[in-house]
Amino acid sequence: MSDLQSQKSPVARREFIKLAGTGLLAGGVVSVSHAVETVSSQETAMTVRKSGGLVTSYEMETDIVIVGGGMAGVCAAIAAARNGARVVLVQDRPVLGGNASSEVRMHIVGADRHGGRKDTDSRESGILEEIRLETAVWNPQRSASVFDILLLDWVRQEPNITLLLNTFCDGVVMKNEHEIHAVLASRPSTEDAFTLRAPLFIDCSGDGRLGAEAGAEYRVGREAQSEFGESMAPPVADRKTMGSSILFIGRKYDRPMPFKPPAWAHKFTGPLPHRGIGSYEYGFWWNEWGGELDIIKDNERIRDELLATALGIWDLIKNSGHYKDSENWALEWVGAVPGKRESRRFIGDYILREQDVKNGEVFEDGVAYGGWPIDLHPPAGIHTEEPPAVSVNTPMYNIPFRCVYSRNIANLLFAGRNISTSHVAFGSTRVMGTCAVLGQAAGTAAALCVKHQCAPRELGKEGIQELQQQLLKDDAYIIGVTNSDPHDLARKAAASASSAMPDGRGAENVINGIHRGVGPRANRWSSDPNAGMPQWLRLDFQAAQKIREVHLVFDTGLNRQLTLTHSESAHRYQVWGPQTETVKDYELQVLHGESAETVAKVEGNYQRKRVHRFDAREATGLRLVIHATNGAASAHVFEIRAYG
Ligand SMILES: Cc1cc2nc3c(=O)[nH]c(=O)nc-3n(C[C@H](O)[C@H](O)[C@H](O)COP(=O)(O)OP(=O)(O)OC[C@H]3O[C@@H](n4cnc5c(N)ncnc54)[C@H](O)[C@@H]3O)c2cc1C
Repeated sequence: MSDLQSQKSPVARREFIKLAGTGLLAGGVVSVSHAVETVSSQETAMTVRKSGGLVTSYEMETDIVIVGGGMAGVCAAIAAARNGARVVLVQDRPVLGGNASSEVRMHIVGADRHGGRKDTDSRESGILEEIRLETAVWNPQRSASVFDILLLDWVRQEPNITLLLNTFCDGVVMKNEHEIHAVLASRPSTEDAFTLRAPLFIDCSGDGRLGAEAGAEYRVGREAQSEFGESMAPPVADRKTMGSSILFIGRKYDRPMPFKPPAWAHKFTGPLPHRGIGSYEYGFWWNEWGGELDIIKDNERIRDELLATALGIWDLIKNSGHYKDSENWALEWVGAVPGKRESRRFIGDYILREQDVKNGEVFEDGVAYGGWPIDLHPPAGIHTEEPPAVSVNTPMYNIPFRCVYSRNIANLLFAGRNISTSHVAFGSTRVMGTCAVLGQAAGTAAALCVKHQCAPRELGKEGIQELQQQLLKDDAYIIGVTNSDPHDLARKAAASASSAMPDGRGAENVINGIHRGVGPRANRWSSDPNAGMPQWLRLDFQAAQKIREVHLVFDTGLNRQLTLTHSESAHRYQVWGPQTETVKDYELQVLHGESAETVAKVEGNYQRKRVHRFDAREATGLRLVIHATNGAASAHVFEIRAYG
């Protein structure tokens, strides 16, 4: 067997947990655990008294358990909850966001390639777009901690989510070899243990702890070129991964700020090959190491080394004489949690590969899309003279549903960096914009599985259109899939407007089924910029309809980058605040013959997707009256949907 062939977690541990779990489950809702665990280590087997009666055990029953609250897990939880499922979200850290949180501080990028993709609207929409738009308005100071709070708030707004922070998934109870019965988790801060039962589970933990405990097949390392015919893969397979990184933030003061490194900081004698230091406020993703070690088991050693190299880089900046303008700069923050790029990748019914990404493959069961370049880093990281990354641009491509559920564990989905891809394809899917839309897809799929009482594979076979249509309705984007929702009454209406730009931006676009600009197609209504405000857009139904819900999709400039970043160069071209083209003040009117009744009046909007629900009204049409935008001369609307 090669290194890359399927691996399973040690059975002994699972067997024990099965037994322990059975005892706990038999014991009612709250019981005290006195488990005595037999663990095996590499050297010797030993007996450990797990708890001296201090740990309180809780059992919880829910629809979906999600492990990991990074961007994938947050979006999965919100999507599942909004689609009617009860969710328990288990996150081992005190904050949400994973690598985007204040603990690591990576900026979220995605298919727009830092705003570099000019040929089409490419920024991710859906839940991530809500979060990005809210961040730009609510967090003008670009604080990392305020972003944590926003994510917490976004999760707390969902009554269907139970959030367990500081809670670590460290085991599973299996129903049988192919089905998870419960997640075992512990919260040391309160000396509590949880048994979380559900019909469905989503692993968004990055490292794939939940799935690995359950025996889900996964891979670690790089495939050989020959396996999938990938030109960017090494000739021989190995277990090497990309390394982890520790970032830091520098701040400029009005006086010189000396820096004396600790004795254990790494000593760099001069500028590092291929690793430019252009500014001091945010650095450096290429402070990367550990890819030649076991990225999980050696995490603590890797953290120590990365801290030593981070401080060594700062020492180089401050004290080498090569960076004279750094005199007034000082360290403001240094990461303590290594950001992890790569570890386990689960195996689904399909493994995404280099050719799929490079060809812009559009799979029939596409549920999310990517578009970040294939961005591969040498496993040796900072201690190599090789360039720190090889990056090859790709078109946008779909990610099939078959990549987000396990091929051997029937009730396990996954989202984020642990989905089913080759190492090379992972070089593109791994960024957080893509992880977030995968999370929304997995969460929505899990909710549909709960609704139909089916497994993910069955949903993929029998219900893929329902899943895709639900994702579109919730403002996600899938390349090539258009709105065919039979319940959307707007699709059969006639659209008209007070004015329109002459270049294919007529009112009919709001019901053409595509809710973003795609290539040269604007797919939006834009009012004549010379006509001023107010402007209106109108739908007339063929016959009177009962309407109780209207969905609006506004323009938020998906052609630009929008991300919270601590890098000045990455921030420079963003609109940080409400996006100028977004409709700000509007009224939604239900029309009946000659009469018009306002059912929603909004001031100060900056969101892209707005849903208005009201008591059912008999309607011959709908009118959206736009009084102001956030700056643009023209009003823009991508989509109107109407439901009875
Ligand atoms: C230094 C660095 C630079 C990068 N640069 C970028 C970039 O510029 N932009 C970009 O978009 N992406 C970037 N990436 C990639 C990106 O950050 C990751 O691929 C992405 O964070 C993966 O998202 P995720 O939600 O799958 O996992 P994560 O962000 O890792 O989140 C997983 C969460 O699960 C939690 N967890 C783990 N195990 C358990 C458990 N057993 N129980 C409970 N909770 C658990 C973790 O604490 C974490 O909070 C970078 C990565 C690194 C390390």
